[in-house]
Amino acid sequence: MTGLHFLLTYMCNFECDHCFVYSSPHAQGTFTLDQIRKLLDEAAKIGTIEWIYFEGGEPFLFYPIMLEAIRMARNMGFQVGVVTNAYFATADKDNEIWLKPLCELGIADLRISNDLYHYEDETENPAIRLRGVALKLNMPAEEIHIEKPLFTSDVNEGQNKGESVIGGSTKFRGRAVEKLLADLPQRCWEDFTECPYEDLKSPKRVHLDPYGNVHLCQGLSMGNSWREPLSEMVKNYDASSHPICSPLVRGGPALLAREYQVKHEDKYVDACHLCYMIRLKLLDRFPQYLTPRQIYGLA
Ligand code: SF4
Repeated sequence: MTGLHFLLTYMCNFECDHCFVYSSPHAQGTFTLDQIRKLLDEAAKIGTIEWIYFEGGEPFLFYPIMLEAIRMARNMGFQVGVVTNAYFATADKDNEIWLKPLCELGIADLRISNDLYHYEDETENPAIRLRGVALKLNMPAEEIHIEKPLFTSDVNEGQNKGESVIGGSTKFRGRAVEKLLADLPQRCWEDFTECPYEDLKSPKRVHLDPYGNVHLCQGLSMGNSWREPLSEMVKNYDASSHPICSPLVRGGPALLAREYQVKHEDKYVDACHLCYMIRLKLLDRFPQYLTPRQIYGLA
């Protein structure tokens, strides 16, 4: 494992239809610095972690905490990336004020959401302006561009297995299932015999949330890092003994449904859609692994 991604907060100023962590202005859950420090110490113990990302939600909503967390991670020798929707990018001079402290801390990757979910005009908006200023400051900066679901396929467009989502089509997990399914073509559930996007057997990165959850995929947790040290959890992880990952690795969402004899529909848009719907029905059976409930749109 080479990367840890902190969901610094579930809160976001936006409430996008495709958001697979169900972020919104009302979403609860934000890391404290003590919690981040504890997990960074664990990251060092793992021994293979190179990259720390801060994302959300929208991490710039908690700017001073984000900055201090970046400082801690940089002082420990990690490469650091940040993901933002650029909501704050109003004017170039002001953008420099936001970005300069990150620049001085040696941010190695700034990822900026720029697509039709976030902005009506993809050619002139805060994301474009922020990227321009970042590049002027010699800060590596790229766009995250997610396509609206005009069609779907099982091809890993824009994402290598086990890597972060930086592009391609909408993934049908989280709020996308609630908001974006209408009229999309669907296929027989038995077709979805593999997880197309995550390397659940030997994950290269996980997402950490303020509740201690260690996400292999959104809402699919390896365990709780407040109850078990993260370094030990990662070293001891074995997909074959994880009740959800084991069937997913052996036969994808179709086997997950079969193995737990979950009642379900005949057709789904894609593998993630089936996986998410089956997981929803298993929430009460595996609450320590399918969590937090807010990622499933539940209180
Ligand atoms: S939702 Fe399921 S099938 Fe889709 S990437 Fe996550 S674990 Fe894999």
